Amino acid sequence: MCGIVAYHGLKNAIPIVLSGLERLEYRGYDSAGIAYIIDDNLGIIKEAGKVNVLKKSIPENLKSNLAIGHTRWATHGVPSNENAHPHLSMNKNLAIIHNGIIENYSSIKEGLEKRGYTFNSDTDTEVLINLIDDVQKNENTNLFKAVQLALSQIIGAYAIAILDASNPEKLVVAKKGSPLLIGVGKDEYFIASDAAPFIQYTKDVIYLNDNEIAEISSKNLEIRTITNELKTPYIQKLNIELDAIEKGEYETFMLKEIYEQPK
Ligand code: GLU
Repeated sequence: MCGIVAYHGLKNAIPIVLSGLERLEYRGYDSAGIAYIIDDNLGIIKEAGKVNVLKKSIPENLKSNLAIGHTRWATHGVPSNENAHPHLSMNKNLAIIHNGIIENYSSIKEGLEKRGYTFNSDTDTEVLINLIDDVQKNENTNLFKAVQLALSQIIGAYAIAILDASNPEKLVVAKKGSPLLIGVGKDEYFIASDAAPFIQYTKDVIYLNDNEIAEISSKNLEIRTITNELKTPYIQKLNIELDAIEKGEYETFMLKEIYEQPK
């Protein structure tokens, strides 16, 4: 089980995403990476190993209002730099992070290879982002519609977040079988596998349901199903504090639980 974090808003997304990844470290992982948009350009930094290793590769002055971050638990391909997320589409226009497994990735990969796609990693995730790119081109449509159409071909589990260099204001996220929450702030949105990365900023949260896709700009959120049914976002208040979901001074969550039990 790996972790996903994303931020879209007026603050600098880079430190928010990096500290969010650290708060998800307890879930276990083998590599980490981020993608971000700066001046309509898509950037990617990823490393095998711990978030600490990734942090050393990130320039201190890196600033972006839109970034996605990932900790990977390898299922398709060894833990390595190439297999770490985010993954780019072949034309380097789209970047994806993914938690889960695309079960029918090999037949989709074969089809894409026949249409000229090449791959830099062994992951099922790189297949998914190129499928989305292929659909976007063939149907001559926007990213949201392409994600809807591509996901209707997918068998498996996913929580995904996608950046699009040609539409740098938008972040598209979707979920089936893997957790994905949207934290709602004032003119800002947080995405994460659980609430730990954003609870210090907002307690207003939307739990995305399976087969739902959200398009997020800094001031707007639209949720639709894969079959394009419009959903009204249901915002819930989290009744939990940051220290309740962090290990704090304890080495493991089990120790924390034991010490916090009433005598
Ligand atoms: N299946 C993807 C991979 O192997 C994602 C694994 C994960 O959930 O971290 O890269």
